[in-house]
Amino acid sequence: MAHISSPINPENQRAIRRIAEISGEDIFECMQCGTCSAVCPMVESMGFTTRKGIHLLQFGRTQEVMDARIGEFCASCHTCMVRCPRGIDVPRVYEAVRLLALRQNEDLIKPQDIPKETMEEAPQIAFVSTFRKLTS
Ligand code: SF4
Ligand code: SF4
Repeated sequence: MAHISSPINPENQRAIRRIAEISGEDIFECMQCGTCSAVCPMVESMGFTTRKGIHLLQFGRTQEVMDARIGEFCASCHTCMVRCPRGIDVPRVYEAVRLLALRQNEDLIKPQDIPKETMEEAPQIAFVSTFRKLTS
């Protein structure tokens, strides 16, 4: 019988395994219904929809999902998880993507990029939680 090789390159296959290990979720259960995108309150801030992010992750294209900053903008409200017909814990998947970025020693926010008005008006606890979440 002829051997059919995977269309996904080895590096992307490793990325798929890492996401599965860190999140504990099976992203191949996703049927691309788009419900997670429709209910997400943060989707307008993300580079693309949560549905598309899961689709790219199925191909191991983690860098594109990191670049779309879904893991950073996800507010962990869990609405998508509750509504997903396949029972996927979507925020856990994006948390795994965020952790992968941080493990590359990539800070996802820099103090000098925060607008002066925000610095003056935001409560200190917001800075503490933001830097805890987004810096390596
Ligand atoms: S709601 Fe669930 S099944 Fe539907 S696109 Fe999102 S992750 Fe996939
Ligand atoms: S948990 Fe994150 S991705 Fe899911 S609906 Fe809330 S903000 Fe959107």
